[in-house]
Amino acid sequence: MKNAEVVKKIALFRIKRLFQLAEERIKDNNVDSEELSKRYLRIAMEISRHYKVSMPLGIRERICKECGSLLTPGINCSVRSSGGFLIYKCTCGYITRRRYKRATSPQAVRAGSR
Ligand SMILES: [Zn+2]
Repeated sequence: MKNAEVVKKIALFRIKRLFQLAEERIKDNNVDSEELSKRYLRIAMEISRHYKVSMPLGIRERICKECGSLLTPGINCSVRSSGGFLIYKCTCGYITRRRYKRATSPQAVRAGSR
């Protein structure tokens, strides 16, 4: 294994570990732990940018793009479903939509795309 591959592997490992820690902190459900969780995610994003490692999709879609907090239903975001989409609303007001139903026709795919 080349040196660059090892570096990227370690970076990815650290991103996953920081996400794990952020998840543990957000479940404590108080203001200080939420700030700490945001900080862990910020560090994970810096590692991702610095070592040019893409954030795993499962982690990327759980981070609010506005305030950087970890979207956790029941703690800092609400989830509702509408027209084949799950709509996540963060406490800061930012809204993200994720498709949960597969589109059947090509027209529906085009209409549903951003
Ligand atoms: Zn937010």
